[in-house]
Amino acid sequence: MDKRRAVVIGSGIGGLTAALALHRSGWQVTVLERAGSLEPVGAGIGLAPNAQRALDVVGLGDEIRSLAAWQGEGGMRAPSGRWLARTDASAAAERFGGPLVLVHRSLLIDRIAARLPAAALRTG
Ligand SMILES: Cc1cc2nc3c(=O)[nH]c(=O)nc-3n(C[C@H](O)[C@H](O)[C@H](O)COP(=O)(O)OP(=O)(O)OC[C@H]3O[C@@H](n4cnc5c(N)ncnc54)[C@H](O)[C@@H]3O)c2cc1C
Repeated sequence: MDKRRAVVIGSGIGGLTAALALHRSGWQVTVLERAGSLEPVGAGIGLAPNAQRALDVVGLGDEIRSLAAWQGEGGMRAPSGRWLARTDASAAAERFGGPLVLVHRSLLIDRIAARLPAAALRTG
């Protein structure tokens, strides 16, 4: 029987993760990305426990956790330097059920994309 087919529009973290989940479930997936290539963009991204659980589902959770940057106290500042929110790793772990994992956004995208068949991703 032919494989079921899916087309995912957009190769952001959401699209690639959905595509990987479908691929692992036996679907033939094509990801259509309007950008010309998957250029590294952005800076760090903090992955909360729920995001890590989604990565567990597609078999990437432990790999990404092992690449996590150091975590300590942190938060968000306005461009003026004023703190908008502050927390530390243990407070976040207590509140959300596990530590935040901080990785570079392009690394996360590369690791998800690498688990898809090369022909699955079409840019441009
Ligand atoms: C400054 C900033 C910091 C953030 N920090 C965090 C954080 O620390 N932790 C966290 O969990 N989240 C964070 N977020 C939110 C997180 O980045 C987004 O929720 C997530 O990246 C969204 O992923 P996505 O795949 O849904 O969309 P996107 O990353 O927006 O990807 C959409 C893709 O679809 C493509 N596309 C759009 N339209 C079309 C079309 N018609 N045809 C083909 N391709 C198309 C686009 O080119 C793009 O590549 C942050 C967001 C910002 C802006």
